[in-house]
Amino acid sequence: MKISVTILMLMVSVSSIGQSLEAIEARKIVFPNVTGYHTIICDLHQHTVFSDGAVWPSVRVMEAQRDGLDAIAVTEHLEYQPHKDDIPHPDRNRAFEIESSMVQAEELIVIPGSEITRSMPPGHANAIFIKDANKLLSDDYMEVYAEAKKQGAFIFWNHPDWTDQAPDGIARLTEIHRDLIDQQMLHGIEVVNMYTFSEEALSICLQENLTILGTSDVHGLIDWEYPVWFGGHRPVTLVFAEKRSMSSIKDALFAGRTAVWFNNTLIGRVEHLKPLLEASVKVTNVAYAGNTNVLEVSFSNVSDANFTMKNTSSYSLQRNSNIFELPAHTETTIRIKTITRLEGALNWKLEVLNTVVKPQTPATIELNLAIP
Ligand code: ZN
Repeated sequence: MKISVTILMLMVSVSSIGQSLEAIEARKIVFPNVTGYHTIICDLHQHTVFSDGAVWPSVRVMEAQRDGLDAIAVTEHLEYQPHKDDIPHPDRNRAFEIESSMVQAEELIVIPGSEITRSMPPGHANAIFIKDANKLLSDDYMEVYAEAKKQGAFIFWNHPDWTDQAPDGIARLTEIHRDLIDQQMLHGIEVVNMYTFSEEALSICLQENLTILGTSDVHGLIDWEYPVWFGGHRPVTLVFAEKRSMSSIKDALFAGRTAVWFNNTLIGRVEHLKPLLEASVKVTNVAYAGNTNVLEVSFSNVSDANFTMKNTSSYSLQRNSNIFELPAHTETTIRIKTITRLEGALNWKLEVLNTVVKPQTPATIELNLAIP
C-alpha cells in the first residue's frame, strides 16, 4: 500500500515537471541573429535585497535563464540601501559576486554595474562594466560619473520620464545632461523602463546620438511584475554584437547597435530594426492560386513578435483588411487581388505597425516578390 502511494506521488510529480518544462520553453525570449551580428538579449537594470529589491541575487540569475536571456547587469542603488540594517554589506560588489559565481558566461553573461541615484538633474543612471562599485561612493555626483568613466563604464540615464522626477512624464535634456554627454559620461537613455515608453527620450537619443535602451528595472519577481504566463514578457534590450561575449556587448552598446523589445513592440533606429525584421519575417512562397488572379504570399515569422502589418499598395487583400497579423513563430498566407496576372515581380511595401523608428513612425519593409 505504501509503495503504491509513493508510485502515485512520483507519477504526479513527473507529469507536473513535464508541464512546467513546456511552459519554461514557451516563455523564452527568441529573436534571430541578424546579418553580421548576434542578437544578444539583455536586461541591464535589476535590483536585489542588496539595494531596494525583494529577492536574493540568485533569483535574478534563475529568472534570466528561464527567460532565455544572454546577459544581465547587476545595478544596485549606490545611495539607497533600505535593507542595510538587516543585510549589512560593506562590499558593494557583493550582489555581482553572488550572481556571477552562479553561472558560466556560456550560460549567462553577468555584467557588473551600479545605479547612481540622485534627484533631477541628473536623476538616476546606471554605470555598467565597472571594475569596483566601492570606488563610486561619493557625495559629489560628478566625481561618481568621472570614476565610472575612468573604470571604462557604459553609462545610461534611467527612466527620464519617471513622474516622481518629471511630473508631466516628459523626458527633457538639461544642461547637466548635455555637459555629461559632452564629457563622454552619458552614452545612452532608457527609452523604456518597466511599464513606460518615452517618445521624448527616443527623440533625445536620435538627436544626441545616444544608445537606445529598454530594461525591466525589476525589484520583485519578474513573474509578478510582468504577465509572462499570459504571453507577456519583460522589457529587454536586443544588442547586436559581433560575438556573444561581455566585451562584444560593450562594444555594441558604445556603437549604439540596439533595439528595445517592449510590450510586443520593437523600438530602435531604422538601420537596426530593418535587419531584425528581415531576419524575423521571411517570404517562403509566392504563387497565383490556381487559375485565379489572386496572388498568395506566405510568410514565416521566426521571432517572438506578433507583427501587425499594414498593406500600403493600391491592391486590396482577399481575406484581410489592409491591416493583418503575422503571429510569432507561425506561417501565414496572405492573398492579394492583383486584378490581372502580374509577370516578373511585385514590389510590396508594408508598414510594421508595432515598431517605432522615430516618434509616431513605424518601420516599413519593402518586399520584391518574384512571381513564378
Ligand atoms: Zn533602478
